Amino acid sequence: MASIFTKIINREIPSDIVFENEKIIVLKDINPQAKTHLLIIPKKEIPTINDIQECDSQVIAELFFVAKKVAQQLWIDEGYKLHFNVWEKWWQEVMHIHLHLLSDI
Ligand code: 5GP
Repeated sequence: MASIFTKIINREIPSDIVFENEKIIVLKDINPQAKTHLLIIPKKEIPTINDIQECDSQVIAELFFVAKKVAQQLWIDEGYKLHFNVWEKWWQEVMHIHLHLLSDI
């Protein structure tokens, strides 16, 4: 079954999309934990960071480049937090990897 993020990518579910390219989409989190809370998501559906493979290196690196670019575009690059949750033990709720970007601006 497709993840909720794949459904958003396929426009089956609406979302507030702030950036998109061939490989990555960036959404506003539906339940923000900070003034700015974005999710930077590869279009490839990889369940958890434990599942990444050598062939995913480029897209994983690109998540960070996109984070930097979006933070600059939103003028929040003076400081922000990036993190991944991995598995339920550390509160991963959606099994499609996503980099959280949080800022108090
Ligand atoms: P996790 O706990 O898996 O690291 O984070 C999943 C995040 O996805 C949560 O912060 C949650 O609020 C967000 N989320 C879950 N469903 C949706 C949705 O349908 N749309 C958006 N924009 N965010 C969602």
